[in-house]
Amino acid sequence: AVIAVTKETRADETRVAATPETVKKLGAAGFSVVIQAGAGTAASYPDADYEAAGAKIAKTAKDALKDADVLFKVRAPESAEIAALKKGAIVAAALNPYQDKETLDALAKAGATAIAMEFIPRITRAQVMDMLSSQANLAGYRAVIEGAEAYGKALPMMMTAAGTVAAAKVFIMGVGVAGLQAIATARRLGAVVTATDVRPATKEQVESLGAKFLAVEDEEFKNAQTAGGYAKEMSKEYQAKQAELVSSHIAKQDIVITTALIPGRPAPKLVSAAQVASMKPGSILVDLAIEQGGNVEGAKLNETVVTEGGVKILGHANLPGRIAADASALYARNLFALSSLFTNKEGAFAPNFEDEILQAAVVIRDGAIVHPNLKTA
Ligand code: NAD
Repeated sequence: AVIAVTKETRADETRVAATPETVKKLGAAGFSVVIQAGAGTAASYPDADYEAAGAKIAKTAKDALKDADVLFKVRAPESAEIAALKKGAIVAAALNPYQDKETLDALAKAGATAIAMEFIPRITRAQVMDMLSSQANLAGYRAVIEGAEAYGKALPMMMTAAGTVAAAKVFIMGVGVAGLQAIATARRLGAVVTATDVRPATKEQVESLGAKFLAVEDEEFKNAQTAGGYAKEMSKEYQAKQAELVSSHIAKQDIVITTALIPGRPAPKLVSAAQVASMKPGSILVDLAIEQGGNVEGAKLNETVVTEGGVKILGHANLPGRIAADASALYARNLFALSSLFTNKEGAFAPNFEDEILQAAVVIRDGAIVHPNLKTA
C-alpha cells in the first residue's frame, strides 16, 4: 500500500507527518511512501533525506495522492487535497473534529475514511500513538521557553559580585502532560515553581517534580477526575473558591503558564482581567489553551497583548510548531505506530477497523461520519 505525506497547507504549520526515520520504518513494514517535495523543509528535513530513506518525491500534492491508499498529515487536508484523494483512502491527521465540521463533511463527501488523531484512546497499548501527549509535552516545554524569553529578568537565582538576582516565581495552572513538562522545564531553569489543577492525582505529581501544589481541596475536587482521566467542568461555586485562592497567589508571580482543557468543551477561564491587572509590570502569562478559547481573560490568538499595567499575555497558537523538528519526529512516530493497525498478520494492507483503537479514532468510514461524539441529532 502507498502512504502519502503532503506539505502542510494550514497557516503557520511547520510540522510534517513523516521523517526520514519513519519513512525507513514504513518501508521496512512493507509500505511505499510518497513525500511531496518540500514537505519537511520547515521542520529541517530536506527532500534528499527522505529520498535516501526510500521515499519517492512527488512534485505536487495531487501527484503524491494519485495512488495513495493512506494520507498522513499533521493538520486536516483542505479542499484541493480532499478532491485529489483516491476513493476510500484513509486520512490520519489532527482533524480538530469538534471545531472543524466543514472539513469532516468534505472528507465524508469525498468518500474517505478519516482518523482523528486526537481521538486515539488513552489506553496503554495506544500510548505510542498518542499525539495529544507527544505534542503537549513539547508545548509545555516551549511555553516556558517563550515565557522566559519575553520576561525581562532571569529565571534562576544568581549571586554575583554586583549583587543577587532573585529567582523567578513561575505558576503552572493545569497539570496534564503539558503542565508537567512546564513544571520540569521551569525547575531546570531555576525558577521557584507552584502549580494547580482540579484533579487530585496531580498533587503528588507536582510535588514529585519539586514544585508546590495549590488547590481548593474540597469534596468536588476529590471527584473531579473522570474515568477517562480527564477533568470535569467544575461548578460555578468551585470556580469562585478557586479564583479566590489563586488571586493572592497570582499577584506575586512573575510567569504564569495556563494549560487547562476539558475535552470537547471551551477552555475554563482561570485568570480574570482583575487578576492580570494585579500582577507586577513585566510579568508574563502564556496561555496554552488559546486555541480552545483561552484560560486568561484578554488573551488573543496569535497575539502578544500588553496590558496597561505592563503585563504581557502570550497567545501563540501551535507551540509545538515552534519546535518543529522534534514535534515532527514524535508525531511521525505516533503515525508509524498507527500504521501497524493497517496490515494483517501476513503483512497485507487490511486495516482492522474492529480494533478498539480504530473504533475510538475513526470519525468517518467510507463517506459517513460514524463517531458517536460527532453525529448530529
Ligand atoms: P488536558 O490537556 O485535557 O488538560 C490539561 C489539564 O488541565 C488537566 O490536568 C486538567 O485536569 C486541567 N484542568 C481542567 N480544568 C481545570 C480547572 N478548572 N482548573 C485547573 N486545571 C484544570 O489533559 P492531558 O494533558 O491530556 O491529561 C489528562 C489526563 O490523561 C492526565 O491524567 C494524564 O496523565 C492522562 N494521560 C493518560 C495517557 C494514557 O494513559 N495513555 C496519556 C496521556 C495522558
